[in-house]
Amino acid sequence: MTNRFDVIVIGMDAMAAATCWYLCKHGIKILGLGQLEAPNNQLSQAAWKKKIERKAYYEHPDYIPLLQRAYKNWKDLEIATATQIYYKTGILYFGDANGSFIDGLKQSAQEHATAQVEINSAEVASKFPLFKNSPTHAAIYEPDAGFVVGEQAVSLYTSLSVAAGVEIKRREKVLSCELQDDFMLVKTNEDSYKAKQVVICGGAWASSFIKEVRFVPLVTKQIVVWMNPLDWAPFMVNKFPSWFIEDEHRGVYYGFPIIPPNSFGGPVGLKIVHHLPGVVSDVDAIDKGITKDDEESIRYFLAKYLPSANSNILGFKTCFHTYFSEEHFIIDQLPAYNNKVTIACGFNGDGFKLASVIGEILADLAIKGDTNLPIDFLRIDKFTST
Ligand SMILES: Cc1cc2nc3c(=O)[nH]c(=O)nc-3n(C[C@H](O)[C@H](O)[C@H](O)COP(=O)(O)OP(=O)(O)OC[C@H]3O[C@@H](n4cnc5c(N)ncnc54)[C@H](O)[C@@H]3O)c2cc1C
Repeated sequence: MTNRFDVIVIGMDAMAAATCWYLCKHGIKILGLGQLEAPNNQLSQAAWKKKIERKAYYEHPDYIPLLQRAYKNWKDLEIATATQIYYKTGILYFGDANGSFIDGLKQSAQEHATAQVEINSAEVASKFPLFKNSPTHAAIYEPDAGFVVGEQAVSLYTSLSVAAGVEIKRREKVLSCELQDDFMLVKTNEDSYKAKQVVICGGAWASSFIKEVRFVPLVTKQIVVWMNPLDWAPFMVNKFPSWFIEDEHRGVYYGFPIIPPNSFGGPVGLKIVHHLPGVVSDVDAIDKGITKDDEESIRYFLAKYLPSANSNILGFKTCFHTYFSEEHFIIDQLPAYNNKVTIACGFNGDGFKLASVIGEILADLAIKGDTNLPIDFLRIDKFTST
């Protein structure tokens, strides 16, 4: 009987760790299963420190209420652990003055009263002198936005959950989840477990061990680069903003100020990411090298928008985005399993900022079968590929 749980959470990275914490509040027996020894490596997407946190969500205004709740929940985590997780750096946005990127930012501000200001080129030059903007671009500044430190947040959710009694087993790979009478049977490479509810946060592998999910993930290789500007002082956190820039030819690039290595560990330098989906890849065989094209893309951005950082590359990492639907994340319960399975996947390059609210939603679904948070636009029946 020791292998019986109320809820089993699969994945044990960003979304799963947050879910465990929100489940703890219900005083039930919880098991977390993850195939990795620790979160954040090349078999997950949560790696490499800073994650952009913005309420100005140009992609779709329906995400804004979730983002507002996510901010509150990150604050709760900071209070529960007396640790700073969120860094308010402000985010500077550039994009075609007549394009959908800037329009989307303005629409999200109008519909949900997010704080952001349009700034003219003279203000850009005086407030953000290291940036060059194109004359056809508009500039918007979101003062309340910033970043969360990803690894730290995952590790805090995990340690809080363990302290509250959640059992976490790592290096255990889930092989199958089956409905048996009134419970779910979860088989791993080590053991078998029974649970009243299963929550699957398996990233790119989310559909691989459960028959009823027929989505095939699209996985793209992504590159993160750390530059080594000649003078670090003007690029340090508290002096330099985070930024999010849509180039008309190459899509969105974003990046962060330098954070002191002695407080956060490596990698160090000025972090830059090309947000555009990269080369479609096999998630289990991603090429981990940086190509000439990858470097050219970063240099193109720096030469055009941030020339004083166009110096040596200090380091780079490869990871991947997972898309289960081109448009949105997927969060729902599966009727084929009598609603005993909740799935959350397809968080592509934008999910981390929402991990704190996704955890709350997944716990609600597993415990109550529903949530007060607005997720209807993310339900599985909204997508055609099932
Ligand atoms: C380069 C890059 C930059 C990004 N920047 C940002 C950003 O600035 N802001 C932002 O909001 N988001 C960002 N993201 C996106 C964000 O990191 C992801 O959306 C988020 O981390 C997804 O978390 P997850 O828990 O769903 O998935 P994952 O992190 O992939 O975790 C899934 C876990 O499940 C485990 N697993 C899979 N199968 C099994 C199994 N059978 N048994 C046991 N365990 C299993 C995996 O090993 C993995 O550990 C970025 C992503 C990348 C790649």
